[in-house]
Amino acid sequence: MQSQLDLLLLGTGTSSSIPSVACLTDETKGCWCCRSTLNKTDAEGQKNARRNTSAVLRVKPSQPDAQEKVILIDCGKTFFSAAVEHWPKAGLREIDAVILTHAHADAILGLDDLRGWTLRGAIQKSIPIYCTQETFNEVSKAFGYLTNTGSATGGGDIPALTWHIFPPDESFELCGVRVTPLAVHHGKFFTTPPSPYPCLGFLFNAQILYLSDVSYIPETVWAQLDAELALARRPVVRQQNGTNNTNGDVAKKEKPRLQALVIDCLRIEPFTSHFGIGQAVQAARRLHAQKSYLIGFGHRTSHAAWRHFCELMSTSPPTRTSHPVTASESIPSAPYMWELYNGHPDPTKEDRDVFAQRALQAVEAWEAGADASEKGGEGDVRIRPARDGMTIRTGPNGVDDDEYN
Ligand SMILES: [Zn+2]
Ligand SMILES: [Zn+2]
Repeated sequence: MQSQLDLLLLGTGTSSSIPSVACLTDETKGCWCCRSTLNKTDAEGQKNARRNTSAVLRVKPSQPDAQEKVILIDCGKTFFSAAVEHWPKAGLREIDAVILTHAHADAILGLDDLRGWTLRGAIQKSIPIYCTQETFNEVSKAFGYLTNTGSATGGGDIPALTWHIFPPDESFELCGVRVTPLAVHHGKFFTTPPSPYPCLGFLFNAQILYLSDVSYIPETVWAQLDAELALARRPVVRQQNGTNNTNGDVAKKEKPRLQALVIDCLRIEPFTSHFGIGQAVQAARRLHAQKSYLIGFGHRTSHAAWRHFCELMSTSPPTRTSHPVTASESIPSAPYMWELYNGHPDPTKEDRDVFAQRALQAVEAWEAGADASEKGGEGDVRIRPARDGMTIRTGPNGVDDDEYN
């Protein structure tokens, strides 16, 4: 039985967040994407402002007299401003649990601001935090007083947090939701030899898969995902046509499709610690969610440009842009990185057709180079860029959101 799970995306941008101050303060070199956020009355431009990746999972009650549960995923550098904007607007107040993906600054630096909830019981006495031992150790190094209140100084105004450690490879129950942590790679430690830096994705009730920071999904994680989805498998009774069918009903087992995938995509090209568009689309194909959403964008490419690409990518087969192709002949090679991002040699402008064309080429190039075992499959993909403040709704009535359709 699927629950009603709504995911409010507090942030959909890279760790530096968007806009970049460097772009805002240089009219000739500042990128079009960042500078478009300066006009506060331009709704499209405002979609280019992106905070650190973070989300609120709202677990809707199955009984009319029960309370909604609120799980915050990550609490990074931009959490406070996101809360000030969205808590009143979305009718949020208490936080039932915080769950952390990893211990980078864009996932944990807002933890201190949780004092606004717990100081003198302003909203609640304490907030439970769920993380791995590794993340707990990192938080302890960064803010000793958050994990050991005895080390607080000054007036002692610190948040009241209760820590819950979970193993990174076992599913558990949280606020009535089955949470499966998925230890993906998110770059590497610069040791000799280098070793992967782990970050958790989360599968919620086999409905929503949230993968905010990923550079590689190990096959063990794919197997874990398969096992979790198989657990959620239900026999589907299919009625045979006609009355002369002597076999009667045929029971078929069907693998349920994920309803929503939220997946990392920093830019066109892959990066050490994040997916590029080729990897994101490949994973989205393989996961075959009903709806896939990209998050984690860097600057230099607007929401509108990503949307243009995604709409072309989501047709079957992907649509070539109106830009005259064949692509390799008609699009000049890009001598500078920023041309790859905004499709225009002048960083203060943008050519969405050229951008989309480059992104499509990147997807094709990535898929051509992938191992057969990693192929995304032939399935179509329905993919869109997420934006800050959008809500994805999943549950018995299917999946939708308040940005597209
Ligand atoms: Zn910029
Ligand atoms: Zn990170």
